Amino acid sequence: MKGKSIVISGSTSGIGLGIAAAFASKGASIALNGFGDPEVIQSLQEDLQKKGSPRVIYSGADLSLPEGGSTLIRECLDAFGRIDVLINNAGIQHVSPLEQFSTEAWEKVLALNLSSIFYTTREALPTMRQQGWGRILNIASAHGLVASPYKAAYVAAKHGAVGLTKTTALETAGSGITCNAICPGWVLTPLVEKQIQLKSEENKISFEEAKKQLLEEKQPSGEFVTVEQLGEISLFLCSEAASQITGTSISVDGGWTAR
Ligand code: NAD
Repeated sequence: MKGKSIVISGSTSGIGLGIAAAFASKGASIALNGFGDPEVIQSLQEDLQKKGSPRVIYSGADLSLPEGGSTLIRECLDAFGRIDVLINNAGIQHVSPLEQFSTEAWEKVLALNLSSIFYTTREALPTMRQQGWGRILNIASAHGLVASPYKAAYVAAKHGAVGLTKTTALETAGSGITCNAICPGWVLTPLVEKQIQLKSEENKISFEEAKKQLLEEKQPSGEFVTVEQLGEISLFLCSEAASQITGTSISVDGGWTAR
């Protein structure tokens, strides 16, 4: 990854940050994105440089807005002059029965979890085509392949992300560019901790018990996927061995979608 530049949406926390750490340790320059306290973000940049990244920039582009995707890609190009790997990872969750699902929540989840992938990809592709090489990884979800109740927008957006991955792969096939989706099951990040907290309050059980139940309901392995595992899988999808893997969805879900 030395000499390569990687842009990861939603990388100030959770999975995006784990993937950033994996690419930093292989010497890639990194464009971080997402929200957070400026001092915390500054220390994340320093940590990634200590891990081996020659340069880490930060873009605060809001990817729930149509212009956010192109802003992020342009800031990366201005800093590094190239874009080798685009990881579309930013996402949010909203849990509600369909009849009570607000228009605002529906539009926000669709905008960030699906439309932002279209905007960043559209902006990054011309540069990747000029370079004759590029890797696009869309962090979808087990919910890109199967559904759960009360997550209408998330499930629709993640199925959409899997579909967009296939179209991007077909349009770039043979150009040196690949596009794949990674479909994680439960990963213990702030996004899931919020759902565990909600479960513990609703069912009047401890956080630990809610965590156990969450895994038991969906993930046969009974173990969380780790951000480090997702980092290594992302690196593999950018390796020479993976150059003919395109348009596919890699499930990393402890067996969730096998049943
Ligand atoms: P997280 O909440 O830890 O991180 C989300 C990141 O997105 C943060 O950096 C946040 O600042 C950023 N973000 C939020 N709104 C943004 C916006 N408008 N513009 C730019 N950045 C924004 O979540 P996570 O669990 O690491 O999730 C990352 C991705 O992985 C999401 O797409 C999520 O759907 C997917 N995923 C997560 C799990 C899981 O179990 N955690 C499972 C499957 C898929």
